[in-house]
Amino acid sequence: MERVLRLCFLVVLGLVSQVARSEDRSRPRIVKTFEPVDLGRFQQIDPESLQRTIGQLERIHRKLGKPSPGDWLDQQKEVGQTFRQYVASDPVRPTGRRHILYVQPIGEFDAKQSEIVELASEYLALYMHTTVRLCKVLPSTTVPQKARREHPEWKVPQMLSTYLLKNVLKPRLPDDAAAYIAFTTTDLWPGRGWNFVFGQASLRDRVGVWSMYRNGDPSNSKADYLLCLRRTLRIATHETGHMFSLAHCIAYQCNMCGANHLQESDRLPLYLCPECHAKIAWAMGVDPIERYTQLSQFCKQHEMGWESAYYDQAIGLLRDP
Ligand SMILES: [Zn+2]
Ligand SMILES: [Zn+2]
Repeated sequence: MERVLRLCFLVVLGLVSQVARSEDRSRPRIVKTFEPVDLGRFQQIDPESLQRTIGQLERIHRKLGKPSPGDWLDQQKEVGQTFRQYVASDPVRPTGRRHILYVQPIGEFDAKQSEIVELASEYLALYMHTTVRLCKVLPSTTVPQKARREHPEWKVPQMLSTYLLKNVLKPRLPDDAAAYIAFTTTDLWPGRGWNFVFGQASLRDRVGVWSMYRNGDPSNSKADYLLCLRRTLRIATHETGHMFSLAHCIAYQCNMCGANHLQESDRLPLYLCPECHAKIAWAMGVDPIERYTQLSQFCKQHEMGWESAYYDQAIGLLRDP
């Protein structure tokens, strides 16, 4: 059986402790900034009022059933995390100086792929209720030959994910970054003994890199475009959720559920369950109805009917419990 890394990122604690002095330490250049409508104004929200929204929204959520063979929870032990546990855990929140999310494309992107990275940045601003800065593409020459290979059997070009974290992202990490998230369209591998990895992150260093290589070709058809968009939005929001201390969800079908393979990931919604939604609303200081309204508009504009219908239903329940 092939040895592959989990779909969810590999957390590399302590990976990026030393950065070579010779590396380029220039900061990323910003090409576009995305803001939620209130510019990400932080509102202190009473955890008890959010606890009540959990009760109001529960009825429109499906519990996570028994995992199928090969699914994430078939192979991983997870303890879950309630909203109360999250609040008590002193999670990472975008308060103080570090409150901006940076999205960094690396390498070659065609027009559709660039569009999807831009949409993911816009969506992330609404989802996380904070400023997102899209950075100028770093050319593929940023990654030297020593950090590249052709997969010995598949003959697919790959980039070394650990090099990207340590030598490309970490030296450029802006001081005000809550997280610095990179996308590439090239396949990634994390080193000797591995075939590939979907992505990799260091929570401690606030950097992560994910490949769109396995998200499909958005130029093929409308359906493939929407699939690639959905997959990219899921990676961006799920992984950024981890950056803000959200653990994997085991309560409901939820964007914060772990996934072991693409098919499992594709079955999960992009929205959050009531417990995970309360975490984001509290951590990012956003009113639930305001957040849902902006997300619903985005999803309608981009033909994501499943999600926009959910957000509209949730708004109705919160307005008239
Ligand atoms: Zn995860
Ligand atoms: Zn959840």
